[in-house]
Amino acid sequence: MYIHKRYTMKDIYEAELLCEHCRKATHKSLVHKEGFPIRSWHCLHCNQQWFHPGDLENFKAYQHLRERSFHVKMREVGNSWIISIPKEIVHFQELQDAEKIVQIHIDEPGRVIISFSRVRKIY
Ligand SMILES: [Zn+2]
Repeated sequence: MYIHKRYTMKDIYEAELLCEHCRKATHKSLVHKEGFPIRSWHCLHCNQQWFHPGDLENFKAYQHLRERSFHVKMREVGNSWIISIPKEIVHFQELQDAEKIVQIHIDEPGRVIISFSRVRKIY
């Protein structure tokens, strides 16, 4: 994979890339792995694909978090019960102070889903 033009860029994804086999321009596309969006370059001639290195790193962090299971305590405060969300999850979601409201609902008996209103920004 070759970078076609040399110029100052904020992100490598701004670059036009040439396929090293076909010497033709690649096309940018967004692919989803396990629900996680990853920017990529794709050669329409030989079908080769290259993933954005930063997105791949984020995907690995995502996979690592998905494999983990956190055990947290519940405690009663007034009429509610409080649970703690592990900081690894909060950091991954890149939550800000303004995003302290989450949505919570019962998925099935014995299973509760917590949804963040903000999804991690990938680019
Ligand atoms: Zn190619």
